[in-house]
Amino acid sequence: MLKIVVCVKVVPKPEEVQVDTETRRLDRAGARSEINPPDMNALEMALVLKDRYGARVDIISMGPPFFTPLLQVALAMGADHIYLLSDRAFGGADTLATTYTLALGIQKLGGADLVFCGEESSDGATGQVPAGLAEWLNIAQITGVHDVDVDPAQGSVRGRREIPGGYELLEVPLPAVISAQTSSNEPRFMDYRIKPWAFAEEQLTVWDRAALDADGEYIGTPGSPTVVSGLDQAPSRERKHIFLKGSPDEIVHRLAGVIRDSL
Ligand SMILES: Cc1cc2nc3c(=O)[nH]c(=O)nc-3n(C[C@H](O)[C@H](O)[C@H](O)COP(=O)(O)OP(=O)(O)OC[C@H]3O[C@@H](n4cnc5c(N)ncnc54)[C@H](O)[C@@H]3O)c2cc1C
Repeated sequence: MLKIVVCVKVVPKPEEVQVDTETRRLDRAGARSEINPPDMNALEMALVLKDRYGARVDIISMGPPFFTPLLQVALAMGADHIYLLSDRAFGGADTLATTYTLALGIQKLGGADLVFCGEESSDGATGQVPAGLAEWLNIAQITGVHDVDVDPAQGSVRGRREIPGGYELLEVPLPAVISAQTSSNEPRFMDYRIKPWAFAEEQLTVWDRAALDADGEYIGTPGSPTVVSGLDQAPSRERKHIFLKGSPDEIVHRLAGVIRDSL
């Protein structure tokens, strides 16, 4: 049976998040949280494979305990178990420390045939975590995938990516990391028959630093070489309303002049 791990990040709703200019960090306190939207697309891809071939689908997430009720939504959609990597020592992690910690969790699970991620988070939005995971785990990766299928007999996975003017198919051997393109599918609703099971505590395992036997130099702030050295507000530009009059030919001519002058 296929072993699938889906990396799910809980993020503050983008429209409610503030940036703390003192600490140069996101101030999550006043914002409600949600599952990072492309992670729902990644989960849907995993559940389609579960429906098609049979699979165990585990959810892994690094974050504080208050993430739990949101992660339980993934169980109510059809995932099997949640592994929450949670410890104060993991706080302040950049993508390097995040991928190290997630990779330890996946290794503790005994590895996976497929590791699904969203293509990027709506808060950090680096898109580095899928590639970083593939590096730590030393396995293949296909990023920004629109849809995916496996060939269990061949032991391979094929991902279709949209590119300008068409699409490309990439096939790599299992195990592999796949990141799902945002809005690439319609995530299913929670199954209300399994909701009571999903929201029972037993479906959740919390692993701290000791459980992962994580090296203190690679986690949290000490393991994070990234420094946010400054924050600037993007200047808002005043819009100019220019009405071009004349025949279509004259308008095109004038428009070209306006564009030329603004360059
Ligand atoms: C200097 C610095 C300090 C930071 N300090 C903090 C801090 O104190 N607290 C804090 O919360 N963040 C902190 N961050 C943000 C943190 O680095 C990112 O949240 C994290 O590394 C993931 O990067 P990303 O959001 O760009 O993920 P992306 O690479 O854009 O995400 C792609 C996919 O990876 C997976 N993924 C990403 N993160 C997780 C996760 N945590 N669990 C499971 N799957 C995941 C998801 O599937 C996601 O769709 C800090 C960042 C920097 C640069």
